[in-house]
Amino acid sequence: MAKKHLVKVTYYDFLKLLWAVVIFFLALMIWVKEWWEPSSMIETDYYEEFSGEDSLDKGISLDEEEHGAALDKSTAQKLASVCALHQDWCNKIVWSGYFSDYDKIGYVSQYFVIFNFLDRGITEGSDIKKEFKTLVINSNAGKRRWWATWTKITINLDSFTDISQFWQVLTHEFWHIVDLWVLKGNSMAKNSNYTEFWKVKFSVDDPSLEYYKYSWNSEDIRKSTAQEKDFCSQYWMSNPFEDFAECHNLYLNNRKLFRTMASESSVLKNKFNFFANLFGYQILWDNKTALPYNWWRPWDTTVLI
Ligand SMILES: [Zn+2]
Repeated sequence: MAKKHLVKVTYYDFLKLLWAVVIFFLALMIWVKEWWEPSSMIETDYYEEFSGEDSLDKGISLDEEEHGAALDKSTAQKLASVCALHQDWCNKIVWSGYFSDYDKIGYVSQYFVIFNFLDRGITEGSDIKKEFKTLVINSNAGKRRWWATWTKITINLDSFTDISQFWQVLTHEFWHIVDLWVLKGNSMAKNSNYTEFWKVKFSVDDPSLEYYKYSWNSEDIRKSTAQEKDFCSQYWMSNPFEDFAECHNLYLNNRKLFRTMASESSVLKNKFNFFANLFGYQILWDNKTALPYNWWRPWDTTVLI
């Protein structure tokens, strides 16, 4: 008896099936690509939008931080009342070496200002109050001047030639924490061109990657087209993480200078807009510390006061 075929597949049916499979996979690829591809951080061109309107400052008010200490209190009471504004933030500080209460008030106030700004100003990512764990302030010299590791910042004050460097160093180091721990993607797919302390951890939709790509092919390789005028400081041109932290300092403290420098470089204009979008154009100060601008890049914004 001849074998009965329940379904007869013609050549024409086979072609239809083939097309259906091809279309299905094409649609899948487009969907996956869109899903994985991060949206750009630059939604608004603040550089163009506010050209000539530098006076527009939506800077976060710091009054809240300053009204705590009344004049008739002892220094110890003043320190306690400053800390009481954010006791949990104060608890993250580890004091090492000798500090007077008066000194401590100065450091705590600066730490509160930057921490408060980053907490309230950053429009993306996870909660810095949870991510950041420890601030070690050491009055002595250490093996290194200052550094950030994982969720901790260590600053050895004795390494400073001028104590007013504390602010620039603190904001610089905080940006490493933000870069690595606050700005994160959700994708399981990883980008192996950049590492967190030599471990491949960057999700392909990590917002920081968009910034790095302006000047870098990878953690160790600068774009062949990169020029000095594309960077906020000369000294840190060797590393995308330092590049990021240095431009952060410039945006926060010297947006006006940043704008002037960006007028000479479309890459730096993108970097400016990256921060402007991330912070909703808010800054802490415009020209708080007047950096001298000429054709020369500041050597290192952590030491240029
Ligand atoms: Zn650094």
